[in-house]
Formats: sequence, structure tokens, C-alpha cells
Amino acid sequence: MLFEHLGSASAEGKSAIVILGASGDLAKRKLMPALSVLRKQGMISEDSIITGVGRSKFTDEEFRDRFEISDDFKNQLFYHHGIQGLKDYLNEKGPFQRMIFFLSLPPSSYSGTVEQLYNEGFREEINIVIEKPFGRDYESARKLNESIHRYYPEKQIFRSDHYLAKEAVQNILIFRFANSIFEASWNNNYIESIQISAFETLGVEERGSYFDQAGSIRDMIQNHLLQMLCLITMDPPISLNATDIRVQKTGILKTIEIEEVSRGQYNGYLEEKGVSPDSDTETWAEMKLKINNHRWAGVPIYIRTGKALNRKGTEIGLKFKKRPHALYNAPDGTPSNEIIFKVQPSAGIILQLNGKNPGMDLQLARTDMAFCYNSSFKDEIPEAYQKLLADALKGDHTLFVSSIETETAWQKIDGIMNKGKLIHYDKGCVPKSIFDNIWIDFERYKNTC
Ligand code: NDP
Repeated sequence: MLFEHLGSASAEGKSAIVILGASGDLAKRKLMPALSVLRKQGMISEDSIITGVGRSKFTDEEFRDRFEISDDFKNQLFYHHGIQGLKDYLNEKGPFQRMIFFLSLPPSSYSGTVEQLYNEGFREEINIVIEKPFGRDYESARKLNESIHRYYPEKQIFRSDHYLAKEAVQNILIFRFANSIFEASWNNNYIESIQISAFETLGVEERGSYFDQAGSIRDMIQNHLLQMLCLITMDPPISLNATDIRVQKTGILKTIEIEEVSRGQYNGYLEEKGVSPDSDTETWAEMKLKINNHRWAGVPIYIRTGKALNRKGTEIGLKFKKRPHALYNAPDGTPSNEIIFKVQPSAGIILQLNGKNPGMDLQLARTDMAFCYNSSFKDEIPEAYQKLLADALKGDHTLFVSSIETETAWQKIDGIMNKGKLIHYDKGCVPKSIFDNIWIDFERYKNTC
């Protein structure tokens, strides 16, 4: 990975990591544990500081006591009430080789906060990480980009999509472009369909008021699932430079055409805390789309995601066309080959093949060749936020989403949000698919990795 902006993150440099909204859920559950690991690994030096900022009032001690981290690391934590005075405060603790400001805030306050940072005197010395959701439709995303760019150029903005930082997702490009055996078949000559599935067993839990304003299409498809689709389908970039990768991803987003959509809601959703009693927000969405380019013309792409389903799992599958002439298992022919990228909860890549069942008869059996993270590597898989924070410190944009990508994705999604009648399903069940009989049985690979 190349860095574009501020230099490499290592223990050599003194950094300031500022978390705006540090009293919130994301800071507690994800950011601080990730920073603690980066500190242990030496990616953050011992003279660096983590400064929480917010409207809440805490002393440094009170702030430190909110997190379960080592005493050593606690001493690197500080708290500053509000943005006013933050510049002088950090100047006294500096100088810093790099500074990141993580906006762990409700989306409605992104724009105003960026303006406040500028008015406080922060300029090209900072990188700003912005959490999802980035806008709620094309127009709001465009306006948000416009208001941010009034103060800071794109090279200082890091739009987070933590799926991009998951190990299995990062591996998609390596798998495709570091191996020569797949590229020749990675197109409409050989692939019958591409399928992406993201199932959760939990309902909205404590995030009902947030989710009810979003729904599955905004919350999962506009960002995570379309980003993964880009990585699976894009042409090889001319280099691993973030700009070159983004060009290819944007090329895919521009050519997407959504053909059919179905939305659903689980029974009991309307009684969830924070949900409007007459909400028509979807907790399930399924769609068929196509990519209008040479490589993928004619290949249907199916995406589905939902909450309160029968299983937890995010997978990407490529289903290959059957052999044109059935030598084995006539008249139906041999089963299609499949390549499965398991993203979570376990990570791995599986190639489903047909082989001969041992014995005197000529019987075919489906067999899997699997590359599983838990058995292939001793190293622990880093949490996505560790990678995102480390990259933002380095100024590496590769795993962050550009303004054009996010706007183009919203343009595609705008026409389908809140459209069509909702189907209803019981918790723990999967709604009947409108694209029946096409889905890869991802559950079949549950125990493979
Ligand atoms: P919270 O709702 O917990 O808010 C974070 C903090 O923001 C609050 O503690 C509060 O701190 C401050 N805040 C609240 N309202 C305002 C306001 N109007 N203006 C300025 N500050 C405000 O959010 P989360 O921590 O759950 O999430 C932060 C961001 O991360 C959101 O954009 C969310 O969508 C995104 N995200 C969260 C995930 C999660 O698991 N929590 C997962 C993925 C993304 P104070 O009162 O001290 O100022």
C-alpha cells in the first residue's frame, strides 16, 4: 500500500488522535480497543496522545476510567471539552508529526463539526475520518461533500467503510490479481451469476432509532455490499495506488443498473425501541442488478441482506456456468463450480469442485478446496478499525471511499429506496426470495472454514 499524504505510521512519530464524540458507543466498543492494540504493536508511539472531545464534561481521569485498557495506555488518554480552544490545547501537547480527527458523531453534525475545526484553525496538518452513513441519498451526500470540501480537500478526507478493512475483503484483490489462474474465467464467458449475501440473526437491538431512519438498503447495500461488489468485478488497476483502485471501483459503480428489488420487514419490528409505529423501513432487501460493461454483460448479480434472519454470515459467491456438454451425471450435468469468499464471522476462500467419489462405480461428489484463515495463519486477524485507524494515520486512502464513489453509489440507490410493498417475515426465518432457485447455499460452507 502506498501512502499519499502524511508519512508512515510507526512508533517513530508522535501522533495526535482526536476522537470527536468520544463518549459514544463506537468510541467505546471499537475505536479505543483498536487504538490499544495499535499501541501494543508499536504502530502508535508512547509519546502519542489520544484526545477525546465532546460536549460531555469529563476530567482526564474520568475519561480514562471509561475504557478497559492498560494503565500505560490510559496515561496517553486526555479529554477536551468541546472544539473551542482545542487548537491551543493540542499545540501545548505537540508538536505532532501527524494528526487524525475521527468524527465518531451523529451524521447530522458532520458538516458543522468540519466547519468548526476549520474555524478553530486546523488546516492541512489534519486528516479527518468520517464514519458512515455519509448522506442519506444522492443530494444530501453531494451537499455534504460540497460543505466539507469548502474547508478541506479530498486528500484530507477519509470516508470509512469498515468492511473494506476486513481481512477477507482486502484479500479479494490479492486473490484475483496475484494469481494467474482465475483471471481468464473471471467474466461473462464462464460466470453464471454473482451473489452477495449478508445475514444477521439480531434485530435492531439498541439502534432502532438510527436504523429506522436508514433501513437495510441505506445501511448495508449502498456502502458495504456495493463496495464488495466493486472489488469482485473491477478490472485490474494499473497500480495499488489508492487513486488507481478508486478509478476502477468508480467505473463499476457507474455501470450498475438495478433491475428488481424486494423489501421486507420482520414481524415485531414496529414494537422495537426507537422505531416509528407505522414505519415502512425495510429490515430485509433483495435485488437483482447488472453491470453494463464488456466483462459482465449478461451476468445477473444478486444481493440480499437482512436482520433477524436464521443465520449470521456475509459471503460473496461466484457461480460458474455448467459444462456445455454433460459427460457425467446426464441429463442434468455436473453441478456448477462455485468460488465462495467468506467474509464473516469466519473468513476464508473456498473453491467448490466436482470429483470422483472413491469406489468401483463412477459416482461424482462435490468437494471443497478451502483456504481458511483460522487454519492457514497463526497470526490473529486484526479488527477492521485497527487497519482503518493505522491507514488514516499513514494517509493511505486505499480502504476509504472517495467522494465520487459515495455519490455514484447513492445515485444508483436513490431510485429504489422506500419503493414497493413490504413483505413481512417472522424473526429467525428468511423471507421467500423473489429470485427463487438461484441462490448458492452458503450455509453448506458453514463448517468448511
Ligand atoms: P452516538 O449516538 O453514541 O454518538 C456519539 C457521540 O456524539 C455522543 O456520545 C455525543 O457525545 C456526540 N453527539 C451526539 N449528538 C451530537 C450533536 N448533535 N452534535 C455533536 N455531538 C453530538 O454514536 P455512535 O458512537 O454509536 O456512532 C458514531 C458514528 O459512527 C455514527 O455516525 C454512526 O452512524 C457510526 N457507526 C456506529 C457504529 C456503532 O456500532 N456504534 C457502527 C458503524 C457506524 P457528547 O454528548 O459528549 O458530545
